[in-house]
Amino acid sequence: MQILLLGGIGEAVRLARGLTPDHGVIYSIAGKGRRPELPGPVRSGGFGGSAGLATFLREQGIERLIDATHPYAAQMSRNAVQAARLTGVSLWVYRRLPWRPESGDDWRFAADWPELLAAVQTFQRPLFTIGLEPLRQAAAIPPHQHWLARCLEAKAPNSPQLTILGATGPFTLEAELALLRDWRIDVLVAKNSGGDAVAAKLEAARQLQIPVILLERPALPAADREFATVDAMLAAFQENGGFGEP
Ligand code: NAP
Repeated sequence: MQILLLGGIGEAVRLARGLTPDHGVIYSIAGKGRRPELPGPVRSGGFGGSAGLATFLREQGIERLIDATHPYAAQMSRNAVQAARLTGVSLWVYRRLPWRPESGDDWRFAADWPELLAAVQTFQRPLFTIGLEPLRQAAAIPPHQHWLARCLEAKAPNSPQLTILGATGPFTLEAELALLRDWRIDVLVAKNSGGDAVAAKLEAARQLQIPVILLERPALPAADREFATVDAMLAAFQENGGFGEP
């Protein structure tokens, strides 16, 4: 089967490796992060919206589209649903389970950026681990706050109240504990990404009894099939003589 796999996270690479012996897999990344080493072709950069993706699916003779993007890559996931509809190609989605609080955790949830800003108001030294949005909001930092923002790119706007840390995970628990202590962080702001790669910050916040504010996941339209683990999707491909259900 010819597969286009929309990737960008570690489990997508595992999926590509698991499917490659039996299928032709084109692995696609947005192009901002690392380019993985895979046995099959790796393409980088956008398709030009859902119409561009539909054209790509037709031109490459793709029989199955797999969306294994980050749970917050909402635009790509919406484009995938639309392109699948336009072409009739079946769409399978891998989506990690969200993190859940443990007993004693002080976790709060925000639906969007305004809710998140309101929830941060009562704190002085938040650590943001939600990408570039805090950099765009630098002008809105209240006088009583200093923001530490960890993201892939470290382009710092001019603000004495905002420090940018350019860093790529995974991060160890020891490093996360040191970061929270060294910067005297009093609240952690994160996406509910799920998975293990960047979960150490939550354990560090737990140990230091620092509250966590989580930006909720974007709502996404349904696909033909959805899987919460890589193994479950690989097993589904083994059904029906290796081709799985449509
Ligand atoms: P997005 O907002 O959903 O995507 C924006 C555009 O980037 C898409 O419309 C598409 O362009 C292109 N694109 C995204 N993923 C692609 C892929 N796998 N292959 C080809 N093109 C792709 O997603 P994002 O800007 O990448 O990220 C949104 C959020 O998710 C951010 O907060 C980011 O921190 C988080 N995140 C993303 C990734 C990732 O690998 N994408 C990894 C970790 C975290 P066209 O419309 O032109 O096709």
